[in-house]
Amino acid sequence: MNHIRKTIPLLIILCLISNTAIAVSEVTINDAKKPHGAILFIVDGFGSSYYYPEFTPIALDGTELIKARTQNISFGSRILDIRTPHPVTGIAHSIIVTGFSQANEETVGFPDATIFDITKRFGYVNLAVMETGDFVNMRNEQDAILFAENNSIENPVISMEAKAAPSGIYELMYDWKMKIPEYLVNRSGEMRYSAFNKWGIDAANAIATSMIRNNPSQKFLLIMNVGEVDSGGHNLGDDDYVRLIEDFDRDIYPLYQTAKENDIALFLTADHGMSFAEKDARRGGHSSEKYSTRLESLRIPFVIYSPNIESGIVKGEYGQEDIAPTLLSVLDLPNDLQYTDGSTINIKKYASIFVKSKSEYKISLWTGDQKVSERQDSELVFTGLPLKTNYTLKADGEKGSFEEDLFLDSDKHLDLNRPEPVLNIRMIIAIILISIVNIAGLMIIRRIKK
Ligand SMILES: [Zn+2]
Repeated sequence: MNHIRKTIPLLIILCLISNTAIAVSEVTINDAKKPHGAILFIVDGFGSSYYYPEFTPIALDGTELIKARTQNISFGSRILDIRTPHPVTGIAHSIIVTGFSQANEETVGFPDATIFDITKRFGYVNLAVMETGDFVNMRNEQDAILFAENNSIENPVISMEAKAAPSGIYELMYDWKMKIPEYLVNRSGEMRYSAFNKWGIDAANAIATSMIRNNPSQKFLLIMNVGEVDSGGHNLGDDDYVRLIEDFDRDIYPLYQTAKENDIALFLTADHGMSFAEKDARRGGHSSEKYSTRLESLRIPFVIYSPNIESGIVKGEYGQEDIAPTLLSVLDLPNDLQYTDGSTINIKKYASIFVKSKSEYKISLWTGDQKVSERQDSELVFTGLPLKTNYTLKADGEKGSFEEDLFLDSDKHLDLNRPEPVLNIRMIIAIILISIVNIAGLMIIRRIKK
């Protein structure tokens, strides 16, 4: 009897406020070459001050620090000035995946808060290889994740979790979990840190390659992270920190090739940078008071390869919260992030229009008096539209007609739902019913206790 009482409120909630799966139509107007998947690569503690040609890293005492000589990590579109609002690992990873400048590890667990919630809704599989930043809410967003359970370079413990791994991926992750000793054996100092990073990159490359070969129709988002540029900065000093960046630049090349040859978008960024008190300092930092306001701690790289974006350097001031909306735009996914205060950085070669409603509409797109396309659906994406053009969107449905003129300077989002009160009548009824059932249950429990 008791379990029935517990089930009734659950059933009421499910009946009244559940969202049934949303049908999404995608209409590509021109022959836009779009990415088939994406890799979001976060290098822990990697300050852009140490390799962007435009910047010079400075120590706290004002002396100039050495820079990394890199060849590979300036591909595609490079965002020049982008900073984290909070140079702290867990928080900054949370900002990256939610597009919210005030996010923390808890926010990542909220419904529809992250890029993973949106990719999932659009049929992507979410995969991860993480050496740091793999807190429980981050892991819970993944269909399969290979991660370092501790933060030890001496004795790393590699774990995996899988809810819905595509065919072969669980086994592949297991193989890579077992490969870590091969990478680290007989290596110490900077070489050991570098080898740990290489293990993560090679594992991610193997997973991406397997998805491309063995699950070609399955779109994927692979988030990955290497932890040892950060650890090297903290524990070894500024010279080894720069050496670790140079090794990383060398070791990422095969992964970049995989992305380029297979039309996979690659987003390279960092959670935060690194600062040093002086030249030849043996320890660096980024989150404590003396380091956290330094440009070297705040400035992060953001470099993007994708077949559908313009190459070049993007000037202007951006924040880490702009990464998630930009990633979604490049993947032609709607920015439905619940908490985001970030903006899309316009690097795509074309614009997309995202239309959303609760009921089906007949939606048509017009240029002047010429109809370009017409579809009937509740959620619709028009992509491949030339930039800086005018379009009119018309919608006819049971809730009436809708018409809007659009100038396509960037992606556009149209919500055909009228704004609703925060609590609608169905939710109020649900809450009342749940309360009655709960009170009745409590009264029965009290009687039994007596
Ligand atoms: Zn970090």
